[in-house]
Order: sequence, then C-alpha cells, then structure tokens
Amino acid sequence: MWEEIVGHRDIIISLQNLLQRSQCPHAFLFLGPQGVGKFKVAETFAAGILCHEHEAPCGKCACCQAVRQGKNLDLMVIEPDGANIKIEQIRALKHQAAMTSYSGYCRVCIIDGADRMTQEAANSLLKLLEEPPSNFIMILTAVSQNKILPTLQSRTIIYKFQPLVYDQLLTILTARGFDKQQAAANARISGGSVGEAIELFDPEIASLRRTALAMLTTVPQGLDSIWEQAQLIDKLDNRHAAFILKFLVCFVRDCVMLNLGSAYQEFIINQDVKNEMQDICTAWTKEQCVCAYDIIKEAHKALQGNANTRLVFESLLIQLHDILQGGNIVCQL
Ligand SMILES: [Zn+2]
Repeated sequence: MWEEIVGHRDIIISLQNLLQRSQCPHAFLFLGPQGVGKFKVAETFAAGILCHEHEAPCGKCACCQAVRQGKNLDLMVIEPDGANIKIEQIRALKHQAAMTSYSGYCRVCIIDGADRMTQEAANSLLKLLEEPPSNFIMILTAVSQNKILPTLQSRTIIYKFQPLVYDQLLTILTARGFDKQQAAANARISGGSVGEAIELFDPEIASLRRTALAMLTTVPQGLDSIWEQAQLIDKLDNRHAAFILKFLVCFVRDCVMLNLGSAYQEFIINQDVKNEMQDICTAWTKEQCVCAYDIIKEAHKALQGNANTRLVFESLLIQLHDILQGGNIVCQL
C-alpha cells in the first residue's frame, strides 16, 4: 500500500521502521499543508498496524481491504462535524477506546483535522493522551501547528509533511485520468497540494479562473467596467473570492514571464490560455505586472484577515487601474 503514495519518502521509511518494532508509540501528529496526503499516509500506517501479515500492510488481506473501504472496525476516523471537531465526538472516541479491539489485537484512531477541535474537545483528548488505553494508537493530522495545544503536541511523535513537487503532483493527477495540459496547469497553481489541484478541476472553480482572466482584461477598459466586475465578486463567498485572487497572482506572474521574452516561455503556468495572456500583455508592461503582483498579494492577505470581499476587490481593481494610468502607486522593482 505504501507504493501507492507519491512523495513523503523519509516519513514513510521512518513509519515502516516503527512497524517492524514490537512496540509502537501511542500517538502521532502529522503536520503539513492541506491536501498533500497526510490522511493517506495515516490510513496506510493504520493498515500497517492492524494487518497481521509479515510485510504489513500487505494491501491484500481482509484487514487491509477493510481499511481501504473504510470498514475496518478497529480503525476509527474522526473528522470535523461542520466547522469543528466537537467534545461529543471525543467523548464517543473515549468510550470506544476503552473497549477491546474486534480483532483482539489493537485499535487505531485517526483524528483528521485535529487543529479544528474546539477547546473542550482538545482538553478532553489531552486526558486520553495522558492516560492512553493499552493497544490504542492515535494519529492526528493538522495544518496549523499553532492551533494544537502544546501539551498535546508534547505527547505525540511529530512528522512534518512538505508540499509535493510539480512532477509528483502531475504523476498523481495523470494517473487519475485528468487531462494532461489542464493537470500541468493545476499542479503548478495548487502550490503542492493534491487536494487543491483536484479541486481546480471542479467546473465551478474552473469558471472562477475565467473570471480572473476577464478581470485583468477589463482593468484597462476603465472604471465603469471595474464596477461591473466588483458587483460580480459581491455574490461570491470568501473561499471563491480567494480562488480568484490566487488565479490573478498566477496570471500576472505569467504576464511578467511573457514580457521577459521567449527564454522564459517554458516557465508559464497557464499554458492553456497563453494567447489570451498575450493580449493582456499588450496593455501591461513588465513593471506594471510586477506592481500588480504585489498589490494582488496584499489583497489576498486582507481577504485572509476577513476583510470585506467587495471592498477588497474594489480597492484592488482601482489600484490596478491606477497602475495602468501611471498613477502614484509606488512599487519596489
Ligand atoms: Zn494486510
């Protein structure tokens, strides 16, 4: 089963070594960006703990098959119920942890999104970690280390997952049958997250990419067009608005590459819409693109800080318009 995982070789080797020992630590914390495969590694490690074959996890026995299908009764998975993991879920886990395993061997629990536990849930889990039942192993996954109680962290073995590199992502996406050219663009835009790269194939998200491209085309047309664009953004939620900013950053970065000349063409992320970007570049100089890049990054930060979506986009579009008008925005070049 390990061979099905792309990347994270050092972590996998370390976990394989642990599986060969008779004693396994009782708690792990897998930290790393969203969508890089932390859960997949946790699930495979769990199969390795539960599988009775010599080369565990074998991937073939009834136990491994049940893990794959999410039906192994000795593997519990807890994930956020709505926005958070709630105390009731941890209470139910404690109840189950006190019971003997179905196979008479060991039980494993994966808490996926441990950084989204409520304070009460985290405190309750801490008690379980302080006095772990025998033959009970917990694997926590989290994106933000600073949202995990230090007292909880200190009772776990921590593994830090890195974003996947472009080639690894492309391998995963093409193996799943996605269109190669679109997969190449999505692999680069996603910044190393399989989850996000796959999300980018969603037609709704893909349409936001067209919106971002249209926005850059609109800016040179004047303020009336900008207000129209801002009204469209008003209807989007924060997550979708963040996607537009992410796409804008990529497009503007590519415009810089296009402006730098043919030697940089291979570094262009959005190869599939290169012609449209060529048109945008007729209105935007390299220096203006660099300025725009900084301003869009700032807008992204403001949105992450929960600023009002419409105001962020209005301000952004006006600033971009000002750049094209040779306005007084100062950028570091
Ligand atoms: Zn097996």
